[in-house]
This record gives sequence, C-alpha cells and structure tokens, in this order.
Amino acid sequence: MIRLCQRAQASCGACCGLYNADDHSRGALTDELWRRTRALARVEKTEPAFRACGARLAEGSAEAVFPSVRVCPLLGFLDAAGTRIGCLAHPLATGGADLRAAGAYDVVTCEAFLCPSHAWLSEEEAQLAEAACEDWHLYGLVVTDVDFLRAVLGAVAATVGQRVERRHLDRPPFRKALRALLAMKEELEPGSVGLFGAFRPGRDGEPVPRRIDYETLERGASAYDQILLSIGADPRSGNDLDLLEDEIRRRLDACAAAFAAPDPAARRGP
Ligand code: SF4
Ligand code: SF4
Repeated sequence: MIRLCQRAQASCGACCGLYNADDHSRGALTDELWRRTRALARVEKTEPAFRACGARLAEGSAEAVFPSVRVCPLLGFLDAAGTRIGCLAHPLATGGADLRAAGAYDVVTCEAFLCPSHAWLSEEEAQLAEAACEDWHLYGLVVTDVDFLRAVLGAVAATVGQRVERRHLDRPPFRKALRALLAMKEELEPGSVGLFGAFRPGRDGEPVPRRIDYETLERGASAYDQILLSIGADPRSGNDLDLLEDEIRRRLDACAAAFAAPDPAARRGP
C-alpha cells in the first residue's frame, strides 16, 4: 500500500478539511495553519486543553464551503519553517500523547482513514506528484485529484511522445515546467468559484457533479477536457474556458520544450 499523507518531500492535510474554505489560496491557508500551530503550542498537551483550544480556533476560522466536510483545527505546521503540514495532535507531534480525539473526528477514524487516491494512484504517480509539486499546498490539491494528475501526465506524454517517468523530473527545467502546468490547479483568479473543479455544494450540501457544459458555450469538447474540468473551467465557475485552454496549451508547449532541450549533465565527459 502506498502512503500519500506524509512523504519525504510532501505532506497533505486535505481530508482534515484544509481546503474547505472560500479562500484556500496558499497565503490564506498558511496564515490559518500558523494561527493554529502557535495557539496549540501554547496550551498543555492534554485532551481537554486541545479540545478547548480547538473550539476557540474553530470560532475564528473562515466558514466552510462544504458544511458536510469537517474542518479540523488541529491541522498545522509540523516544522518551524512551515514546509510540512500534519496533525498536531498525533503522538509524533505531541511527543507522546494521542490527542486526536480532541479534533474533528475520533482517534480510530483519524488513524484508519485513507482517501481514495491510495487505492487508485501507483507509487510512480505518487512520486511524480511529490517531486513535481514541491510544496504542501499544490501537492494536496494534486494528489487528491487522480483524474487531474493522470490527465496532466497523459497530456504531457502525448505532447512529448513519451511516458513521463520519475527520472525525467531530475532535470530542473522539465520539473519546473511540469509544476507550472500542475499549478493551474491553484492559480485561478481570486474569487473564482471553480477551484474544486467547479464543485459547488448543492441543496443537500453535496457537490454538484462535474461536467463542462459545452452546449451552452456552443463549442465542441476540448482536447484538455479533464484538465479543464479539474481546474474549474466550467461556465458555472465564472472562469473563461477558452483562456484556460490556451494557458494549458502554452504550459504543455513549455513542458515539451524543456523535455526536448539537451541535458547538460548528459554532455559532461569523464
Ligand atoms: S487527503 Fe488523502 S493523502 Fe491527503 S492527508 Fe488525507 S488521506 Fe492523506
Ligand atoms: S485530529 Fe484527525 S482530523 Fe484533526 S488534524 Fe489530526 S488527523 Fe486530521
């Protein structure tokens, strides 16, 4: 079984409600994670203290987009530099006590839960996401959207004429170009409502199914339909599908150019 939550270069907290806020930009989430990390660092490492602190933190949090998805106030930064996110109530973070019962779920649920990506992604795909994304904000968005990751890797493979392998990401220009393509997932204009692939809560609080309404736009389906869908290019999202399609093409071309560029390391003689 692959592990996606805590990897050598990447960490995720999506199922702890990380992105369940109207503004889930890197800046806003970084501020929120530091707010929690600092507050929890000041309280005793006991379940009542964490529970009380969590309740105070939850009061000051932004409203959730999906009320049915819990937002846990115990998710924060695990390192002083803010490069790794994770559960601040986990025994490895507290130094011994398991305080996860003070969070949004119970210990058994937190311990046992693995999101569907664990069943679908291969280790190679996980490694590609980890190496390309480089930071927690993009990694969490990408690793939890299997369709998006596969569509991007498939589009790059079709453009460069070769399956993308982990070794290809050892070349910084190509890694950077692939990251830029994946980063479309987090770069929509502030206020765009399609950041979850045009997911919006329906009347029952569950997401409205994803599908781009090409008929309304009076045009055929895009060759990049799955990528566009995953980044929220549906007309309902308030985003411009044609502009986003051009941007995908531009970033794919950049991937192709970086892939085809001679590898300086390969030219080095003995
Ligand atoms: S969303 Fe999946 S990868 Fe992310 S922390 Fe949860 S179980 Fe792990
Ligand atoms: S207590 Fe559970 S839901 Fe909360 S941050 Fe930890 S693992 Fe996530």
